[in-house]
Amino acid sequence: MRFGACTDPGLLRPNNQDAYGHRGPLFLVADGLGGHRAGEVASRIAVEEILAAMEGREPLVELRAGFLAANEAIRAYAMANPECYGMGTTVAALLFLDGHACIAHIGDSRVYLYRSRRLVLLTRDHSLVEELVRQGSLSEDEARNHPQRSVLTRALGTTETPQVEYAELELEKGDVFLLCTDGLTGELEEKEIESVLATDGHPQAKAERLVEMAKRHGGADNITVVVVDDVV
Ligand code: CA
Repeated sequence: MRFGACTDPGLLRPNNQDAYGHRGPLFLVADGLGGHRAGEVASRIAVEEILAAMEGREPLVELRAGFLAANEAIRAYAMANPECYGMGTTVAALLFLDGHACIAHIGDSRVYLYRSRRLVLLTRDHSLVEELVRQGSLSEDEARNHPQRSVLTRALGTTETPQVEYAELELEKGDVFLLCTDGLTGELEEKEIESVLATDGHPQAKAERLVEMAKRHGGADNITVVVVDDVV
């Protein structure tokens, strides 16, 4: 397995509220929400707590427990630090286990699969605009530039009982996975992302290239990208 990761504050934000992490076969990205520096705190806590839960005995059970522990830890921190009240974070997690990719996510950070020359989105954003698109009251194009596109319907740390979504698929030779925050997908079309993943080269080079492209398109938000290949 090979992987590459890159995170960048982008061109307009004073700080980086995204975080990423990796332990053994688990990869994570998180995008914090909250005023001042609270979002930064929330995403960092989430990554640390989930990675700490992965002891390797029962990875799937530990992953689920990690999400819950992270939720608790974010809430406890906010309770003790009123300036962090209401903070939360997205998390997208990708775990390789027994020839499968296990995906867990909450919020609008995404997991993509590049397979057979096509980019496929494996997660569904937990966001207001995604709901409206699914109900048919908004087109994909309208969603893209909607003023409320960053409003989430689910996040870690914002409720006592977070609704994390889980999925699983069998790995195939040649699969390339991408985890990213909305700072990437807000700037680049899926065709552009696909064209980078289609190239030869190390995942680190692809991760850096994607971040660079997002910045060239405006870099309005923090950008975080993890690319994993050679998975079977
Ligand atoms: Ca973001």
